[in-house]
Amino acid sequence: MFDWLIVGAGFAGSVLAERIASQRGERVLLIDKRPHIAGNAYDRYDQAGLLIHQYGPHIFHTNSKAIFDYLSKFTRWRPYEHRVLAEVDGMLLPIPINLDTVNRLFGLNLDSEGLAAWFEARAEKRSEIRTSEDVVVSAVGRELYEKFFRGYTKKQWGVEPSALDKSVTARVPTRTDRDDRYFSDAYQFMPEGGYTRMFERMLDHSNIKIMLQTRFSEIKGQIPFRRLIYTGPIDEFFQFRYGRLPYRSLRFEHVTINERRHQPVAVVNYPQTQAYTRVTEYKHLTGQQHEKTSLTFEYPCDTGDPYYPVPRAENMELYKRYERLAIAQKDVWFVGRLATYRYYNMDQVVGQALSTFRRINQEIEGSGAGDFNPPVAAE
Ligand code: FAD
Ligand code: UDP
Repeated sequence: MFDWLIVGAGFAGSVLAERIASQRGERVLLIDKRPHIAGNAYDRYDQAGLLIHQYGPHIFHTNSKAIFDYLSKFTRWRPYEHRVLAEVDGMLLPIPINLDTVNRLFGLNLDSEGLAAWFEARAEKRSEIRTSEDVVVSAVGRELYEKFFRGYTKKQWGVEPSALDKSVTARVPTRTDRDDRYFSDAYQFMPEGGYTRMFERMLDHSNIKIMLQTRFSEIKGQIPFRRLIYTGPIDEFFQFRYGRLPYRSLRFEHVTINERRHQPVAVVNYPQTQAYTRVTEYKHLTGQQHEKTSLTFEYPCDTGDPYYPVPRAENMELYKRYERLAIAQKDVWFVGRLATYRYYNMDQVVGQALSTFRRINQEIEGSGAGDFNPPVAAE
């Protein structure tokens, strides 16, 4: 008899397996339907021997020292600051939009103050910022919105930015200085030996048993357990009782080419041309030396593995109905990007898992927070 069954070996399931095994001393069965651990963060060496990310580029960034310290128990880090270029009007320009983006695109020579005034003159004021179109148009105006955001967003999500919650494009800031980093978080690193290696260390505990290529539906009723943590899609857990929650999927095309270096930065975005949204070259992320290079092209699609919850009001309402069912379940915890239908980054999922662990301790023992006091994940 296992004390816990944990469904899904991504960040949510693996962090909780590690905490429960090492801090509560209880026995955990961790299952995943895929043939590997690490969920969407899974990386592997391809045929040429280059480390690639099976499910698209994963760059670790966080402002939380607690989350960074927790993961540092299982990996050393390689300092890495992510930079992205967007191909716009035939040029490769920094995204997030910054001083160099505007100067190069329009042949201007503005300084930061000049750019702030330039934005001000073009920004369309809105009484309320509600959608992903509002966010961009009210900050930089319609022309930059059309060039950098509209096409990319339509490709990525299959709908106009005006049909998406503001939180989607709000992930990408606008800058008036020359900072061309994609993220501005305090901690920006890649796990030195890769994500999968980090997960292997996290799960290397005698209280944790792992079963891969195993679906929850296959073992429910077959293997006894006392408590359940579920990190798969919440609508699937409840047999789609209220209908399906929309998730956006991607098709990944991985290629290796006979070039040492293909593009100047790790990721190039294509907001105006191509069927794919972006191209990733992994050597920039990993620092690996090799005479060849491996790339991934991302083609968004409706069907396939669920990768992104789709943030819009009607979907949140449907999710809330499922959440009410989830709250009513005894001895079941729902955690992670799919089970809580939130567009979370890796660090936010780790934060959510660590807070869940604290809640588990409180609910089961009526006791304190264990040895860890995690910050609440940002919404
Ligand atoms: P997952 O990693 O999806 O793990 C859930 C696991 O549950 C899966 O392995 C699945 O196979 C398994 N499962 C589901 N249902 C069942 C079932 N019924 N039975 C058995 N197993 C089941 N975050 C960042 O911080 N930085 C980035 O650069 C970044 N880039 C990303 C790029 C892409 C293309 C995508 C899709 C995501 C990216 N993310 C990034 C987000 C990151 O992937 C997630 O935050 C994180 O992986 C979520 O972890 P999770 O455990 O909630 O879910
Ligand atoms: N986005 C865009 N153009 C870009 C980059 C981002 O329109 O060049 C929008 C798009 O809607 C995207 C969202 O901003 O889905 C969030 O971008 P992010 O890079 O955070 O997406 P993720 O890495 O999560 O796929």
